[in-house]
Amino acid sequence: MNQQNVVVRALDVHKSFGALRVLEGVTVEVDRGEVLAIIGPSGSGKSTLLRCFNGLEEIEGGTVEILGTPLSLKPRKLAKQREELGMVFQRFHLFPHLTALQNIVEAPVHVKGVTRKEAERLAYELLDKVGLRDKADVYPSQLSGGQQQRVAIARALAMEPDVLLLDEPTSALDPELVGEVLQVIQQLAQEGMTMVLVTHEMAFARKVADRVLFMEGGVIVEEGVPDEMFARANSPRTRQFLQQVR
Ligand code: ADP
Ligand code: MG
Repeated sequence: MNQQNVVVRALDVHKSFGALRVLEGVTVEVDRGEVLAIIGPSGSGKSTLLRCFNGLEEIEGGTVEILGTPLSLKPRKLAKQREELGMVFQRFHLFPHLTALQNIVEAPVHVKGVTRKEAERLAYELLDKVGLRDKADVYPSQLSGGQQQRVAIARALAMEPDVLLLDEPTSALDPELVGEVLQVIQQLAQEGMTMVLVTHEMAFARKVADRVLFMEGGVIVEEGVPDEMFARANSPRTRQFLQQVR
């Protein structure tokens, strides 16, 4: 594992879609072992920021560094850098024609060149971690949303990323299934996994995050430790937002 302590460094990142300015100078560092929660209203640029972290979006200004190295413009090198970042989406995006186990095994075998046997050993271990070993041979359509999302988390972990980016991982779930996914995320946090979590689960953010960013209109309005931010945010906008979502 790379020993760099700053896993993601974004410096003055600017991103537009046509005339729409979505990120207007975002600077943020994610330290190894840190859980960073990003909150903010819909459309504030949270997902775009995560996508800039892993080079899914080309930026017009600023820089993004992963483990001290700027994201490469060369597709092959960029693909290698992307392996350092695991991504979990709101809508799980599992391969429907593959079982839970096969979903997890796929990338390590085809991208990393791990032997199938070794990848399966790791996949069972990860299924254990997310509490789904008994679902190894089941297809996504036979799993609940919460179970699918736990498989998606296991799949991201199978690449042994340095950081996990989670974009509203519980927003598409029925309320009764949210807890089982949050529990897995909390366990990862306790194990020291570096994570960036975009979420509307304020109580959860307060509980697991080391630091919270409040974004609005493409900028970071405020950042701080959760207890302080939630108890007494400095910015009136942050306070207003927190009152609305409560
Ligand atoms: P959030 O995740 O905070 O809700 P997003 O980063 O998804 O915000 O979106 C920020 C803004 O950028 C929104 O106005 C959204 O409509 C716009 N946007 C996001 N992706 C695209 C895209 N691929 N093309 C055009 N506009 C986009
Ligand atoms: Mg979003």
